[in-house]
Amino acid sequence: SESAPRWALISVSDKRDIVDFARGLTDHGFHLLSTGGTARALEAAGLEVTAIDDFTGFPEIMGGRVKTLHPRVHGGLLGREGTDEAVMREHDIPRIELAVINLYPFESVTADPECSLETAIENIDIGGPAMVRSAAKNHTSVGIVTDPDQYPRVLAMLSDNGGRLDAAYRFELAVHAFDRIARYDAAISNYLSAIGPDGERLQFPQQATGCFEKIMDLRYGENPHQKAAWFRTAGAEPTGLAAARQLQGKELSFNNIADADAALGAVAAFDGPACVIVKHANPCGVAIAGSLRDAYGRAFETDPTSAFGGIIAFNQPLDGDTARDLMDRQFVEVVIAPDFDADAQAAFAAKPNVRLLAAPPGSGGAGPDIKRISGGILLQSADAASVDRDDCRIVTKMQPTDEQWADLLFAWKVVKSVKSNAIVFAADGQTRGIGAGQMSRVDATRIARWKAGEAGLELNGTALASDAFFPFRDGIDTAAEAGVACVIQPGGSMRDEEVIAAADEHGIAMIFTGVRHFRH
Ligand code: 5GP
Repeated sequence: SESAPRWALISVSDKRDIVDFARGLTDHGFHLLSTGGTARALEAAGLEVTAIDDFTGFPEIMGGRVKTLHPRVHGGLLGREGTDEAVMREHDIPRIELAVINLYPFESVTADPECSLETAIENIDIGGPAMVRSAAKNHTSVGIVTDPDQYPRVLAMLSDNGGRLDAAYRFELAVHAFDRIARYDAAISNYLSAIGPDGERLQFPQQATGCFEKIMDLRYGENPHQKAAWFRTAGAEPTGLAAARQLQGKELSFNNIADADAALGAVAAFDGPACVIVKHANPCGVAIAGSLRDAYGRAFETDPTSAFGGIIAFNQPLDGDTARDLMDRQFVEVVIAPDFDADAQAAFAAKPNVRLLAAPPGSGGAGPDIKRISGGILLQSADAASVDRDDCRIVTKMQPTDEQWADLLFAWKVVKSVKSNAIVFAADGQTRGIGAGQMSRVDATRIARWKAGEAGLELNGTALASDAFFPFRDGIDTAAEAGVACVIQPGGSMRDEEVIAAADEHGIAMIFTGVRHFRH
């Protein structure tokens, strides 16, 4: 009838902005119906509220486990206009026109590694998701509000639309509501399925439900005939490129994003000013120096041919001089840095197609790492291993000098970011030749040497890093011919003795890391 009250049911764990929103609803003639804590918060602000137990005639019991699971609540949410009026009258079920619900904070509670299973279980909301489902299913009659960020628009539409939410908006709210509970249930499932038989937290859950949410559709994939979209990890703070801001430039492509990710991960390995230039997922030049400008110049020198159209990452805010230098020297697709100063931004504005990404420092290289295979995926933790001097073992008669140690550890940081089989020649904080993605280690060595020659770079006295052990002495022989003075590699080959003997023969110093950095 005309005089029937309009009910808004409010039951929220996150009470942000709820008082103002509820007051706004009362201005539109809504009667408020609330669960214990929410009702107290609203009453404390001077609002008139009907307690849920007065509405159902049944107390909230079991410490809140059962509060709203009652036919008068779910009937009020699910009753169809034009279909269910008679049965609603028969059982004295009033229509609930608006439901404002956010859930027990399961995700944030379980984000604490100290959270006990018991606490996690108590934070599984039961009645909340049930009401969200009921209201969202019945969106032709009910508005379902699940996020405080929606409050302003709801109030605005009530004001502009004669106190009603229109059908299109109720549908949009329902879609959002189902998305919310799908992710909520995924978080519960992922948490519980990562608990092992003895109650320990497993590295990866047995299931990985609802793990990704879309950032954007991409124009196409690796090739123009492939469809593609970019997703980020759901339910977590954005990291890596998902946390980046694009300051200018054309839309990012699939290959831009993949290469930018490789560059961001590679540059995160360095503390001082560093620059990494990536092409087709491999670094083609890496350098550290006293300034970003020098680091860029020296990274570029490694392989000017490949750097054309590259993706360039810096680990410190970019200045205008470096920006101008870069644009003078080469065509660039994407530049990534923690930030760009005003001068750098002004310089790049002259080339509006260049994509500038401000990505938080150290945000690259975070795991887990996913490899797609037909019919599924392979999941592994990120290759976060790093070594310092104390972790390494000198295996040759020659000992590296302090300068050689620095070259070796620099080359080792670079080789980790190069696809296998990977060989890196380096000296003075500069890559001198990179051999990437070869099927044999000796070929990777030959290519790195040849490329250094093409670039006119000196190999005499350089350090060589190999991402995995040399299976034969031929790689060391090739390195010696090139003039290499020292070698860093994992060791562990059946023929280590033969390889060490080769190094001794050539007067090369060699150290074993005991750590391998395959990357495919
Ligand atoms: P309040 O702070 O108002 O006491 O509780 C609000 C929370 O309770 C909301 O997050 C809502 O989703 C949740 N809730 C509402 N009804 C029920 C129920 O019947 N069982 C459980 N476990 N939670 C409920």
